[in-house]
Amino acid sequence: MVSPDLVHARVCESLVRLRMGAAAERLDALLADAAHAEPTYLDFLDTVLQTEVASKQRKRIAMGLQIAHFPATKTLEEFDFKFQPSVDPKLVRELATGRFIAQAENLLLFGPPGVGKTHLAIALGRAVVETGHSVLFTSATALLAALSRAETEGQLAERLGFYAKPKLLIVDELGYLPFERRSAHLFFQLVARRYERSSLLLTTNQVVTQWGTVFGDDVLAAAILDRLLHHSHTITISGDSYRLRQKRKAGFFGSAAPGNRG
Ligand code: ADP
Ligand code: MG
Repeated sequence: MVSPDLVHARVCESLVRLRMGAAAERLDALLADAAHAEPTYLDFLDTVLQTEVASKQRKRIAMGLQIAHFPATKTLEEFDFKFQPSVDPKLVRELATGRFIAQAENLLLFGPPGVGKTHLAIALGRAVVETGHSVLFTSATALLAALSRAETEGQLAERLGFYAKPKLLIVDELGYLPFERRSAHLFFQLVARRYERSSLLLTTNQVVTQWGTVFGDDVLAAAILDRLLHHSHTITISGDSYRLRQKRKAGFFGSAAPGNRG
């Protein structure tokens, strides 16, 4: 008979060779639990495999969140839907399932500063990572700077490829600064590449009628909008800045502040 110690060592070795490191690490604890609870053979096997699956899932999500480069940690649980009645919680929850990614649909978030556009973009981005899709977050300014630099250096194709790759590309704060003509063309190329292939999530403080000004060209703006809106969801957030609400609460503005609700 093979000694139990030898079998234990061989099981550990096999688990490691099969890249089941979490199960190998937890083996003694799992065996101790089993000795106590006396599960069926099938239940024990299930527990071992679930240990590994859960660990791999956690690692994959942690890696996906790192790759996404979110500028902050924001979640949907933290979002106060009562403060922002213009945001439909049902739509947000549906978007958080990531189904729009499979359909290569876009999401456009419109609204003035401070109403939670970036918060929702990050929170939805995190939810999409959790569904197993790749996400990349960038500001419009950083995106255009990177594309312009790549063009100057003769690396545009590679750079466009980089931004075309993630299943969801989040472009934050479009329209805070107007684009130069060349930049607007680069943005059009990116939108055209992703069109009907992968999703874009865009946040902007500019209403659609202002996009000609943002892109410095009405025809180009129309071409970009046409592609962005074709398969898309839009959320228009009206209402007060969440940032200013906190300041107001602290009495920062006194009573003369515009829009002060007391
Ligand atoms: P925007 O991108 O529209 O300018 P942000 O998403 O940056 O606004 O929001 C400003 C700050 O207020 C952030 O710290 C954000 O987490 C918070 N915030 C905004 N709206 C809400 C909300 N409805 N519930 C909770 N926090 C919010
Ligand atoms: Mg923002």
